[in-house]
Amino acid sequence: MDSKKEEMRRKHIKLHMEGALTARDKVGVQDFVLLDSYTSESAFMDNLRKRYRENLIYTYIGTLLVSVNPYQELGIYTMKQMELYQGVNFFELPPHVYAIADNAYRMMCSELNNHFILISGESGAGKTEASKKILQYLAVTCPMTESLQIARDRLLLSNPVLEAFGNAKTLRNDNSSRFGKYMDIQFDFKGIPVGGHIISYLIEKSRVVFQNHGERNFHIFYQLLEGGEDDLLSYLGLVRSTQAYFYLNQGRCAKVTSIDDKNDWETVVKAFSIIDFNETDLENLFGIVASVLHLGNVHFVEDGDGCVTIPDNSQIRWIAKLLGIHLSALQEALTYRKIEAKSEEVLCPLNIDLSVYSRDAMAKAIYGRTFTWLVNKINGSLANKDFTRKTVIGLLDIYGFEVFDKNGFEQFCINYCNEKLQQLLIEMTLKAEQIEYELEGIEWEPIQYFNNKIICDLVEEKHKGIISILDEECLRPGTPTDLSFLEKLEEKVGKHAHFQTRKLAGPKAKKRISWLEFRLLHYAGEVTYCARGFLEKNNDLLFRHLKKVLCGSKNGIIKECFHVEELENRKRPTTVGTQFKNSVANLINILMSKEPSYIRCIKPNEGKEPSKFDDFLIRHQIKYLGLMEHLRVRRAGFAYRRKYEHFLQRYKSLCPDTWPHWHGSPLEGVEKLIKYIGYKPEEYKLGRTMIFIRFPKTLFATEDAFEFS
Ligand code: ADP
Ligand code: MG
Repeated sequence: MDSKKEEMRRKHIKLHMEGALTARDKVGVQDFVLLDSYTSESAFMDNLRKRYRENLIYTYIGTLLVSVNPYQELGIYTMKQMELYQGVNFFELPPHVYAIADNAYRMMCSELNNHFILISGESGAGKTEASKKILQYLAVTCPMTESLQIARDRLLLSNPVLEAFGNAKTLRNDNSSRFGKYMDIQFDFKGIPVGGHIISYLIEKSRVVFQNHGERNFHIFYQLLEGGEDDLLSYLGLVRSTQAYFYLNQGRCAKVTSIDDKNDWETVVKAFSIIDFNETDLENLFGIVASVLHLGNVHFVEDGDGCVTIPDNSQIRWIAKLLGIHLSALQEALTYRKIEAKSEEVLCPLNIDLSVYSRDAMAKAIYGRTFTWLVNKINGSLANKDFTRKTVIGLLDIYGFEVFDKNGFEQFCINYCNEKLQQLLIEMTLKAEQIEYELEGIEWEPIQYFNNKIICDLVEEKHKGIISILDEECLRPGTPTDLSFLEKLEEKVGKHAHFQTRKLAGPKAKKRISWLEFRLLHYAGEVTYCARGFLEKNNDLLFRHLKKVLCGSKNGIIKECFHVEELENRKRPTTVGTQFKNSVANLINILMSKEPSYIRCIKPNEGKEPSKFDDFLIRHQIKYLGLMEHLRVRRAGFAYRRKYEHFLQRYKSLCPDTWPHWHGSPLEGVEKLIKYIGYKPEEYKLGRTMIFIRFPKTLFATEDAFEFS
């Protein structure tokens, strides 16, 4: 390390130590394991609040980083800060997302193993920002060669493209990610980022056709209409007005002050050129985006005989052109259903509701599959086949636990995913603790903790779990309904300790569960789900007739997304629930083979306001994020542990034998030192390479002595 940097670092450490430790009461502790009453939620809250007031948004629980969204620019992501955190010992500087990134990177380079950083928290808590900060940190601070700059740029620029198609303004967040994202950043043996790979989870397709008041559709629609050149818009048959499109104006907030659609459009177009999209790709892609807008404006009327027609076919004319399908076939598919009876095909007219349903289903299907295509295409451009020996850092930016007034199928899936991730976190933390104790030769003291496997099983178990029961009901001949699904649940999992319905619950709970609802007792608390829509969303049905039309499309992307085999294959397509369950299982496998780091993000208030710490809201999140449980596991044995070298280096001035130089082994030095300052046997243990201190007060006394020495 050059001397200037070293000097800056020392100065910073000194400042930090002075600030953080003499003013411990004012700014709290930078690691929750140092709280005296570590099982007290109010002590946890107090510490978090104190720090937030001082704009210290980051705090550790051991190696886990807790982050509270500041909702303001804090100037802590500068080039200077990046330099500061490079290659320093994790605990020497104030907690920071850069420290997490740097630590994972250094470990990966030195141990040649794979890592992941799991970022979770509710919508608006700062997950996506954190993942961007990490990506930037790695892109900027890692070594780089000229020939690999393009790989780095593509990694960085995949973000604006995915955000344009996968993010939207919601009530909670103006730039809310409506999909889960796992991204591997691949490094060669020199630690240079050479490529990447992205997996997306459960894009919220329903937003394409419907938005709540105060919310928008995906950014790309507005960007295209605001920023697209005149030629492009006229090629797509669009007018430059979001008001003109039904799919864009249900939320009544096309303009958002924090968003510059025109500017974002330019960024996205530039990004497309860097990540290797050619003219034809873009023509096809925007053809689809425009088709969705045209679809939304297709209206149906019923004639006297109950037959549905499309009075104005100017919209479907554009769709037929842009998607390269037959106008009459499309018209027919939107208004009739083909029923196969014996060897004959009979056309059966749809009523208005079903026509609207099929129109919306088509819009959702083409958008949803195009999003998957987009991710694959980006992966193609991020792939780097030249490097065989690669290690990776995986970044997981995924929706946290969700509890709304009304919780549906989406919340059910999301919360199940969180349940699985919680299980992984607890297991991996316990395992890591146990391994560390073993390696250090310190006796392991078993920790009591809540194992949430029982809830995971309730949801996912084959044949017996809720997802299986849902699938079964979807497949059942006759007329399965959301109600019959609920009844099946009562019959099959009614006795489960973590499941309740109105019928099953006692008189007390009855008041709060209504008809058609069921309740799960998650690790984070109870959530009541409304079964309405479960069947339909799980089936995600696109009429066969429409599928067939799309299979004949001449639009290159649609052609890739809809295969004839799908029509020939008479087996029912995998349901959404089962698909999600499989991809979560796959994700857990990916993560299990890697070394973990965790970032838990907290949203401080509902108003997106700086400096406002809403106790009630935050207390909830601490619970949902499983932070107290994590702290308990981390603190069960020892509050603090440090390598002998580092401990001695810091406190050697406290003992005449070790000051100014100690020539023996670090362990002997530490033994001398703690004997001199009077540690009692029950306060500490000496491992092979580290000292373990049981109580924070022991450490604080040492710190204070150091301060005043
Ligand atoms: P999430 O992905 O968890 O839903 P985001 O990361 O999109 O949330 O954050 C929501 C908004 O909060 C951002 O658009 C930004 O305005 C603000 N924000 C989040 N993290 C930070 C941060 N570290 N510093 C400043 N502002 C932030
Ligand atoms: Mg996000």
